[in-house]
Amino acid sequence: MSGKITFVHNLNYLQMGKVLVVGAGGVGTVAVTKMAQLPDLFTEIMLASRTKAKCDAIAERIGDDRIRTAQVDADNVEQMKKLIKSFRPDIVVNLALPYQDLNIMDACLATGVAYLDTANYEPPEEARYAYSWQWAYHDRYREAGLTAILGCGFDPGVTGVFTAYAAKHHFSEIHCLDIVDCNAGDHGKPFATNFNPEINIREVTQKGKYWEDGRWVYTEPHEIHRPLTYPGIGPRESYLIYHEELESLVKNFPSIKRARFWMTFGEEYLTHLRVIQNIGMARIDPVVYNGVEIVPIQFLKAVLPNPGELGENYKGWTSIGCRIRGTDMGGKEHTYYIWNNCSHEEAYRETRTQAVSYTTGVPAAMGAMMYLKGLWKRPGVWNVEQFDPDPFLLEMGKLGLPWHEKFDIDLEL
Ligand code: NDP
Repeated sequence: MSGKITFVHNLNYLQMGKVLVVGAGGVGTVAVTKMAQLPDLFTEIMLASRTKAKCDAIAERIGDDRIRTAQVDADNVEQMKKLIKSFRPDIVVNLALPYQDLNIMDACLATGVAYLDTANYEPPEEARYAYSWQWAYHDRYREAGLTAILGCGFDPGVTGVFTAYAAKHHFSEIHCLDIVDCNAGDHGKPFATNFNPEINIREVTQKGKYWEDGRWVYTEPHEIHRPLTYPGIGPRESYLIYHEELESLVKNFPSIKRARFWMTFGEEYLTHLRVIQNIGMARIDPVVYNGVEIVPIQFLKAVLPNPGELGENYKGWTSIGCRIRGTDMGGKEHTYYIWNNCSHEEAYRETRTQAVSYTTGVPAAMGAMMYLKGLWKRPGVWNVEQFDPDPFLLEMGKLGLPWHEKFDIDLEL
């Protein structure tokens, strides 16, 4: 069954505009490919990144002369400001790394441009990602009349939209939220990460954490796990990890008593991860090698497969969704499951990237679309679940991410 929304939106909102995408990795590739498919909306696109050659290669493959490219070091606010002033975009879509978030937000604020990203800020020297740094910009964005949309990938991103949709249409109160993220794909490599290795390894090697009865409960990494059954895939061992959207979702839906995030990992992947940690290659502090300071995890990134190039031999599916328990207006308990399955092979055929980049890049392009259409435009700094989920979900299937829902089923959780 495919999810359906039946109401019609006021098309007077329809606008168009210029977008500046920062970051020419797998996610940037997908977002720009999708934007180029919507020429009436994205009238001009600029793709800028640290390495201009990567932007040029993406633009050449897409073959659309509306895509311009530029070199920028997004760690340098002055360079970002200069680029924004020369291109004058309506919105900057930040698909570089979380380390750049605050600098790009500063540049947007200084130049009067809207902002969107897919991952929350993380200081390079400490694996601790949290929204507090970016939420601290709320008043400044509000006073400047600017919109900032945080976490508009899949998770975070669509998982927040799914939760908002469930809260709007199916529940009076949400009590339990379990976000379930399965990658049942096989890329044929002994070990690779599906997005930026440094960010990915920092994320999955940290302690687990979930929300219960008004407080955070901490676990050892991968301590809690169980098999969960994913639609069209079957059972996969799923591990409780901390994921950033839990922080905003428990704040924005205070009726939630328990919120957890589960991700599937194969045995092979976990064994490699353990070895990487045990031998010190996951360290994020600099070590001196041959008189030069290197950060082991950054060196590791240089020798691991490039996630943007895993797509060619990737087979299988991803399945990401929200399993929700709560009550209706009459106080009766219900369960609800809303999810998307995405094929690595189809993602590759369309964009030359795999499904993890695809499921992130499509929502990023859609968030920019929501902004340009005036549907997600509100001065301040917002997480996606604070906007109306309906117009987003109305478009999501059309743009390559169909979604499905089931009611009153066994959630396994
Ligand atoms: P990649 O590492 O493949 O790409 C990142 C790009 O950003 C690279 O082109 C890189 O340049 C560029 N970049 C890095 N630093 C700078 C800088 N200082 N200035 C300009 N450009 C810079 O990452 P992905 O495409 O896999 O991921 C992109 C983002 O998406 C990440 O923040 C990641 O955390 C997020 N993400 C979010 C998900 C979600 O569902 N919400 C899921 C997956 C990813 P260079 O090529 O020169 O290194």
